[in-house]
Parts: sequence; C-alpha cells; structure tokens
Amino acid sequence: MNKKKTDISSLRDKINKVDEGLIKLLSQRRTLSKEIIRTKEILNNPVRDQKRESELLNRLIKIGKKEGLDSHFISKIFFEIVEDSVRLQQNFVQSKLNRKEKSKETVNAVIQGIEGSYSYLAALKYFSYYNYELSFLFKKRFDEVIQSVEKGEADFAVLPIENTTSGGINEVYDLLLHTTLSIVGEEKFQVKHCLVGIGEVPLRKIKKIYAHHQAAAQCSKFLETMAHSAIEYFVDTAMSVQKISKEENVSYAAIASEEASKLFGLKILKSDIANQAENYTRFLIASRKPQKVDRRIPCKTSIVIATSHTPGSLVEALNVFRKFNVNLTKLESRPILGNPWEEIFYLDFEGNISDETIQKVLNELGQHTRFMKVLGSYPSQELEHTKLEYSKMITKKVDKGIIERTAELQAPVIKKTKSYRLASREYKIDDTIIKVKDVVIGGDNFVVIAGPCAVENEEMIMKCALETKENGAQILRGGCFKPRTSPYSFQGLGFEALNLLAKAGKYYDLPVITEVLDTEHVVDVAKRADILQVGARNMQNFALLKEVGKSHRPVMLKRGLMASIDELLNAAEYILSQGNRQVILCERGIRTFETATRNTLDLSAIPVLKELTHLPVIVDPSHAVGERNKVIPLAKAAKIVGAHGIMIEFHPDPPNSLSDPEQALYFNQFEKLMMELYKL
Ligand code: PEP
Ligand code: MN
Repeated sequence: MNKKKTDISSLRDKINKVDEGLIKLLSQRRTLSKEIIRTKEILNNPVRDQKRESELLNRLIKIGKKEGLDSHFISKIFFEIVEDSVRLQQNFVQSKLNRKEKSKETVNAVIQGIEGSYSYLAALKYFSYYNYELSFLFKKRFDEVIQSVEKGEADFAVLPIENTTSGGINEVYDLLLHTTLSIVGEEKFQVKHCLVGIGEVPLRKIKKIYAHHQAAAQCSKFLETMAHSAIEYFVDTAMSVQKISKEENVSYAAIASEEASKLFGLKILKSDIANQAENYTRFLIASRKPQKVDRRIPCKTSIVIATSHTPGSLVEALNVFRKFNVNLTKLESRPILGNPWEEIFYLDFEGNISDETIQKVLNELGQHTRFMKVLGSYPSQELEHTKLEYSKMITKKVDKGIIERTAELQAPVIKKTKSYRLASREYKIDDTIIKVKDVVIGGDNFVVIAGPCAVENEEMIMKCALETKENGAQILRGGCFKPRTSPYSFQGLGFEALNLLAKAGKYYDLPVITEVLDTEHVVDVAKRADILQVGARNMQNFALLKEVGKSHRPVMLKRGLMASIDELLNAAEYILSQGNRQVILCERGIRTFETATRNTLDLSAIPVLKELTHLPVIVDPSHAVGERNKVIPLAKAAKIVGAHGIMIEFHPDPPNSLSDPEQALYFNQFEKLMMELYKL
C-alpha cells in the first residue's frame, strides 16, 4: 500500500517535470516565433506561410506516429500552437504599424457586466496577445460601454455581437450604427455554460435558476429538463453568479462560465449544458481611432448600408461583391428605427480597406445605397486551419505600402477632377431618387413643399396642413427653430412646434420638413421630422453637416447666401461622406449687387446643378425674392427650368405672420399657383 503511494507520487513528480519541460519548450518556441517575424519583416514575407505550416504538420504527424501518438491528437495540439504563433506575429506587425507616439503601457477596456462575465473573459483572451497592462471598466448597459470610449474614459470597448446558437445581439448592432468608434478587432470565444450552485445539491432540489436571456436560450434543452425550477432572467451571467453567492440559498443556481463560478468560489453542479457543444460568441473590439491593418494579415471589413428605394437594389448591391470576387462573411438586417418596413444591412467581408479592390467595391456600392458607413477593417480571427494538402498552398504576393485610412476611405477615390466626388455625376450617372413616405423626390417628378415660415400654434399649422393637402402639394413645411437675423425676432417654438408639425403631418398624411439648427438637436428632430433642412446660414456649418450626415432622414441643404455652386456641392459632400446619401439641394437666392429684391434667384444654377450632380434640386422662390407677388412667376419659372420641385411659404393671415410676412402667399394665391403649375 505504502509502496504504491510513493510510486504514484514519484510518477507524479516525473509528470510534473515533463509538464514543466513542455512549458519551457513552448516559451522557447514563442521566442523563436518573435525572431522569425522580425526576419519576415526585413524580407517582407507574408506573416502566414501555409505551405510551411502544412509541411510542419505532416512532419510532426509522422514523428508522432513513430511515438505512438495519433494524428488527430497531434493536429489538435499543434493547431493551438500554430495559432498562438500566428497571432503573436500578427500582433507584432500590427503594433508596429499602429504605434502610438507615446507608447502606452496600460489600456482600459470597458465591458458590459462584471469580472467573470464572457465579455471579461473574451477581453482577457484578446489582449493577452498584446503587451498591454490591462485594466477594466464595468458598465451596466451597452450604450454606456460605447459612450465610455467615445468620451475617452476607456480605450477599447469589448462588445458581444453574435452567438452561434442564439444569433445576433440586436442592441449592439443598433448602437454600432450611430457610434463614432471604429472596429479594430474581433475575438471568438467558446462559451461553455455550466449550472453553478453554492453547494453540492442534486439538480432536482434546485428551485430557482438565474440566467441571462441569451444564455437561457442557448441552454433551452437543458432547462426543459429542469421544469421544477423557476427561471429568473438576469442582466448578466457573472452577475447571476454574484447574486446566488450573496443570497446563499442552496436551492438557487445560475447559468455561467466555469471561470465565473471559480471567481466567486462556487460549485459547478453540471457542466456543458448548452444545446450545441460548439457554442461560440463573437466579440468586437472598438476604439476611437481606426486601425491600419498590415496587408499581410487576413483582414475583414465591416460596413453598414441602406439600399436605394428602387426595386432590386439589394441584389444590385450584393452583385458588387460577386463582380470583384470579394467574399461576404456576414449579412445581417435590422429595421431602421422610426422608418417602419425599412431595413439596414450589416455586412462583413474579407478584405482590407486599403486594398484597391475593396476601394472599388465601396465605390460601386455607394451607387446602390442611400446610406453607407464603414465600421472598420480589422485582423480576422477566423484563422484557417493548416491544410494538409500540398496543392492548396497559398503564398500571396504582397503589395508594398499601406494607404492611410482616413474619413475619405468611406468615399473611395475615383479619378479626381473636382473637390467633391460622391455628389458628382461622374460618381453616379443616374439621378438620385429619394422616397419619403409615398412622395418621390428626384427623377421626372415635380414636388411642391408648402407651409408657413414658422409653426405658430396648433390651429394655424392644422389650417396650413389642410391647405397643403387640398391643393395637391405633397410635403408640409414649418419652421420650429428659426435662424433669425436679429436675436430679438421670434425664434420659433422649438420642440413644442415640432410636435404640432408632426401631428398635423400625421393627421393629413403629409411628410414634414423642418430646419435643424443645432448639432445637439439632430437626433431628436429626426425622430419627428421626415426631412431635415439645413438652412442657408448653416450651409458651411461643417459640424452640423457631419451630424445630419449620420442621420437616416433625407436632408435638404439650402444654398448659402454667398455660396458658389461648387461650395454648395462640397457642403453636400460633407453629408454624403458621413454615410447619408439622401441629400436634396435647394436654390433659395443669393446675394448680388441687386437690392431690388430680398435676394437674387439664381435660376441658371438649376441646369448647372443637374449637369454636375445626380442629387435632386428644389427651388425656394419665397426666400429668394422676398415679396409674395413675385413668388408666383418665379415658382413657375423653376418648374420650366427643370427643378425637381419648389418650396413655398404661405400663411392664413400673411401680414400678421410672426416671421417673413412679406413673402407669405395668401391661401387664394397659393391655390391659383397650384392650378397654374399643374398646367405647365
Ligand atoms: C426657411 O426655409 O425657413 C429659411 C430660413 O430659409 P433660408 O435658410 O433659405 O433663409
Ligand atoms: Mn421663412
């Protein structure tokens, strides 16, 4: 008996020695890996040499056989070892490429949840390949995670995006749409759910199970066998564990990872309880600055698009990937909040934003989309397994030099003749058609936008909406935030007016347009207005242009009082380059030496613009001429000269209008104008 015991301990000692030796060897292997990448850098060799990997594996399998080790065992172990080496080498190349001026030792990662959560474990795994001192910030909600990085409180957000069993995490998708952060990495993490309890208790004694709803969905089959326990949904897996550890009730359990259970010193009542043994969650790593990805590293790019309103536009968009032979790895659709039945698409594809082919893809894609935003290019974690067939050896030729990724990458380069690209006819030959509810702006249509200068009260805007509707005008206008020359003039009733305008629009089934003055208001105004107007005085308010560029609402951009056509198109480019491809231009008169009228309506701008750009052009004769009797002939002229529509101000009692009283038409004048326009 005693002898046996000592035998075991001496055998264990030997095993320990072997294990220690293995660790030393692995560490030596890592050191050699790092030396190799330095040499590869000098020789400009690809990071991954699959031919060499394949030879290595074949050789090892042979040696293994001689030693009595099966090939599956050898490939499994060496896959991990090779993966580690590839990631180390990729990390070396990446860190060199994205080196910060002052290299920072500590990075802050922010996650939703607490220590022990899957986000926490995925972050540990991701950053273990970097030489960072990692510290964590914990938030309750995903939007707080994103804000924390946007504000500069944390460096990286680690966000779950999809799970192989339960699918996409919608909330994170929706947040990605609006964030200014870029995706810089991804991490795949194998989720191994366990049932965790505070003591050894038979499963039939468990009365309550705390579970995150995603985790519960992934373990639904196991939970069916636990019909005697109540399921209580909880915000987070690790927090469920924290909760049972606090409550100290042996009949309570939680679904979480083994690591979380260990962290709280609890017992695993049953492991591997997920429906699918292979249960992976993909996490995205996002930071304020986009990362450049070395061309030798397999790279993925994520974008978000909304396709045009024309039939078949999604197919056309996807055909672009086929044309350029770019592999799509993911297509996920989400509804656009506030636009029922409209969808936005998240696409992941193989390729680097600095590759010429990807630039071409984005360039063509832009012609079939009304919104496009690049979320980022990042090293792909979908490492291909080493292939054993010699025939499939791939050694890509490497282009030298990396093109800087700037905001311009969202607007891929085509032959440069003008300072704007996306707005130009060269970029898009066909007219842009913008659909707002049932109203079509652009192409051969002529639309009339009509309403008061400002929304003054409920009764007044309802009367105006009725007037618009009854005379066949299609869109209701009304100023809520007024850009007045004097700070003492009526400034508009703000959001109160917007509620009234939206109510009137809804009642008469008319889309509504209103001006947005402040970057901070864009999101809230877009909730209630169908079209956002950027006024003449703000045509070069670049911060505002960028903000409306992120919106999903079409934007009508008015020409500045002193702006050239070129400046107007460059201002439109600001909006387009942010992703919003639904821009309507508006000629509203410019300042000239002529003082007989409020401004001078530049009617020649209409055919000029129609030649230079694919965007629709609307004429506003009211603000141009500033005098009601002269609005009528100019409105007609606009239609004759080829404008896609006009915008007219009227008022139930023009002389008493709170703003622009001289130019507001009387209702009967408007009615006559509509009849005359109809005949043209
Ligand atoms: C308006 O349309 O209400 C307006 C203020 O126009 P503009 O910006 O062209 O002066
Ligand atoms: Mn006005």
